[in-house]
Amino acid sequence: MERIFDRIAAKADLDMKDVVTLLSLETAGAEYYRLLYLARKQSEESFGNRGYVFAQIGIHAEPCSINCKFCSMAAEYYALPNRWRKSADAIIENVRQLAAGRVNDIFLMANADYPVEKFIEIGKTVRQYIPSEIRLAANIGDFDAPVARRLKEAGFTGAYHLVRMREGIDTGTPAEQRVRTLEAIRDAGLELYYCVEPIGPEHSYAEIAAEIFRARDYHTGAMSVMRRTPVEGTPLFGNGTVSTPELCKIAAVALLVVRPSRSMNVHEATEMSLLAGVNQLYAEAGANPRDTDDNTENNRGHSVSAMRNMLENSGYVVD
Ligand code: SF4
Repeated sequence: MERIFDRIAAKADLDMKDVVTLLSLETAGAEYYRLLYLARKQSEESFGNRGYVFAQIGIHAEPCSINCKFCSMAAEYYALPNRWRKSADAIIENVRQLAAGRVNDIFLMANADYPVEKFIEIGKTVRQYIPSEIRLAANIGDFDAPVARRLKEAGFTGAYHLVRMREGIDTGTPAEQRVRTLEAIRDAGLELYYCVEPIGPEHSYAEIAAEIFRARDYHTGAMSVMRRTPVEGTPLFGNGTVSTPELCKIAAVALLVVRPSRSMNVHEATEMSLLAGVNQLYAEAGANPRDTDDNTENNRGHSVSAMRNMLENSGYVVD
């Protein structure tokens, strides 16, 4: 362990063996807390005391043909009580409120079956109501290079995309297709928001490490890790979830391996994770794959003010 901690202090790249060793630390031991300390220190060096609140709007509640085995919107296991699409006016109202609440980045989320033309049109419309200093990100299904360029032209500054845990086994998309989209995002000059997700207790540390390395390879500036929320009625519900200390450990390792330039996030937000140097949290509204309420702000989703308070209580300065 001393050799690995020395390598972290020297900012040397860690290899697979190092990362699996760190991820294997017992969460009650002294080395675990040393890991959190090193992550918090890395956070201070990279981000100063700066905290960020991002906000995501799920713009529709409809079945998705990708049928991920953990998702409340999967067509085969649809667990939301209603089906709807927000109008452009409703989304404009949402973004105006978020802009007034001084969020840093706004995400529009739609499932893989939402018409991409419509999504681009909505993005272009709502961008006019978002001050230029607030970034706008797309969280949608897979797309190619021309669509990536058109998202950028419409005013999106970035996109949330990743290869999910056991992609192609627990999801209906081959990992190669997700990679093609990641490359389209990079080539279009969109900012990539990466996340290792959704992490469940059945995933080995080698599997988690492989996805952390993928994030490092893409030089993401906004990194995240997310544990799977068990959604009743979906096939992976019975596998349960990972503990909060375990999630903090994964966040700490991801922060130290990827060394993102702007922010580190844990999802869903936990106060404990801020001990591991997490400086960015999400507020959420509308439909969400982790929720069985089709307006997550009424159930699992946190508000902007709650996320700002959580960061400020931990000493971060959120503009
Ligand atoms: S996680 Fe996303 S891609 Fe998978 S079924 Fe749900 S909405 Fe579709």
